[in-house]
Amino acid sequence: MINIDFECENQHQFEGCFKDYESFKKQQEMGLIECPLCNTMNVKRIYKGCSIHTKKSKEGQGKTPNFWQYLEAFNNYVKNNFEYVGNSFPDKARAIYYGLEEKKNIYGDVTPSEAKELVEEGIGVFPIIDTEKLIN
Ligand SMILES: [Zn+2]
Repeated sequence: MINIDFECENQHQFEGCFKDYESFKKQQEMGLIECPLCNTMNVKRIYKGCSIHTKKSKEGQGKTPNFWQYLEAFNNYVKNNFEYVGNSFPDKARAIYYGLEEKKNIYGDVTPSEAKELVEEGIGVFPIIDTEKLIN
């Protein structure tokens, strides 16, 4: 099951529960998603989890967050919302891709050649740059 956030034309925010991403797509395409408060079908998906909140400190005020802060926010998002599978990432990613395991978001460790193989197989992987290792 996956949860997806929506907002309707009257700014009601609600969460929809779907079997998987496919069934969400299907229902969205058919216009079957309606607001539980006002029953309008004019709803759009919102991405609550993706917003980046930057702390405003004295010296940082008014400054655009730098690249590392964006990276860190991205990494935190992944760490909070994805399941860590360590070295078994290539196996897990394949199992999910080929439908042997339930669809979910995962992250883990791969070697560059393992990552290349996954990409060549058409499995969508995204590199994470570990800011903690780079900065500290
Ligand atoms: Zn509504």
